[in-house]
Amino acid sequence: MKNCVIIGGGVIGLCSAYYLAKEGHEVTIVDQSDLKTGCSYGNAGMIVPSHLIPLAQPGMITRGVKWMFNSKSPFYVKPRFSMELFNWGRSFYKYANQTHVHRSMPALKDLSLFSKELYQDFAKESDSFQYQERGLLMLFKTHKVGEEEIYAGKEAQKLGIEVDFLNKEEVLSLEPGLNLNAIGGVYYKGDAHLSPNQFMEFLRAELERMKVSFVSNASMIDFKINNGKVEEVVTSSRSVLCDELIISAGSWSPSIASKLGIKLSILPGKGYSFNIEDIRDKPTIPSILCEGKVAVTPIGDKIRFGGTMEITHTKDHMINRNRIQGIVDTVNQFYPDIQLIQPSSREIWHGFRPCTPTGLPLISRSEKVNNVIVSTGHAMMGLSLGPASGKLVQELVDNQKTSVDVSQFSL
Ligand SMILES: Cc1cc2nc3c(=O)[nH]c(=O)nc-3n(C[C@H](O)[C@H](O)[C@H](O)COP(=O)(O)OP(=O)(O)OC[C@H]3O[C@@H](n4cnc5c(N)ncnc54)[C@H](O)[C@@H]3O)c2cc1C
Repeated sequence: MKNCVIIGGGVIGLCSAYYLAKEGHEVTIVDQSDLKTGCSYGNAGMIVPSHLIPLAQPGMITRGVKWMFNSKSPFYVKPRFSMELFNWGRSFYKYANQTHVHRSMPALKDLSLFSKELYQDFAKESDSFQYQERGLLMLFKTHKVGEEEIYAGKEAQKLGIEVDFLNKEEVLSLEPGLNLNAIGGVYYKGDAHLSPNQFMEFLRAELERMKVSFVSNASMIDFKINNGKVEEVVTSSRSVLCDELIISAGSWSPSIASKLGIKLSILPGKGYSFNIEDIRDKPTIPSILCEGKVAVTPIGDKIRFGGTMEITHTKDHMINRNRIQGIVDTVNQFYPDIQLIQPSSREIWHGFRPCTPTGLPLISRSEKVNNVIVSTGHAMMGLSLGPASGKLVQELVDNQKTSVDVSQFSL
């Protein structure tokens, strides 16, 4: 039995705590927030084993540069003088190629499918977080974007993912009664979705039941190191003894790891979401409106709309109204009967996706400080990959053979 201290109580930290506590470890979670509103709460709630192509992919740089000049586009890099941004961009450029994509896809597939299996286990324990397997529709309204989506679907199909390629009529037959302006869709039948807010509440309750300690509203300040090992974590509230330290602080992980001499290249990708309740004819299957990269998720009586990726810094809490308008316009173009208007600032949630330049998460024991495990950088797929990442952290702590190969997720 070990004292495990987890810095960061997002979905990655809570899932790690769950599997560690289940194996009998003493677990403490340190989080600077009240654990109610971070990136793991307002996200689109999609569990997507279909999404196997990492963000670093061919064509992404050209597309990104084009999007930079459109204030409503789904992608933006906030320009600033920063070595961190320069190094991240340089690495992204290096990895945005076909060889990297083909190397990454099988590793992401194994991790994603493993995570979905673990979600199915959670769903057997509780229906409180509305887990559903209704698939994911990638909808498009132009031939150019359709070709890109069909290509991605065929690549996923080669790896054994179940994919249907649908024409307009076939899409409409899946959503009868909905006025939908799309020329076709790629349907990943094996994807799932849930209410992320409720899943986080469920995890929190499970952890409290398993006597996991929470040090919330307390920032990690420093470490006491002895013989190359972290012995104590000093927080703004109290100090915690530690046999194993897990860094899963999302976009904030680099500054924490740097105190231990561990270099991580992660930048926050800010995104927004908002919920609408009073829509008459609602989509029933989670969708991505591909031209605007807007996620549409039915969650109970609500529809959650989410999107945009602004590569920025963690102090940037500004709500960019042009990009919100971009989301609203995309929804209104795809669903002419919905006709959204801009939500008020109070209704808009934002979160920082922890993005690595490779587009792959980092799940690895540090070679520098040997009782430190890093699990972060899950970018657009942290909710999807949470359970698998948590289980892998437990296996690394217990020096067990990992359930999936983690070599591609090393630091
Ligand atoms: C609009 C949007 C839609 C998304 N949709 C999906 C989706 O459909 N499916 C999917 O799989 N993913 C989705 N994501 C991505 C997903 O939300 C993230 O990948 C995931 O939440 C990251 O989880 P995390 O635990 O790594 O980080 P976080 O949730 O950010 O948690 C990190 C925690 O660390 C804490 N922390 C930071 N610094 C310190 C410190 N110094 N001391 C103590 N604590 C600290 C923070 O307070 C925070 O609670 C979406 C993201 C956005 C923005």
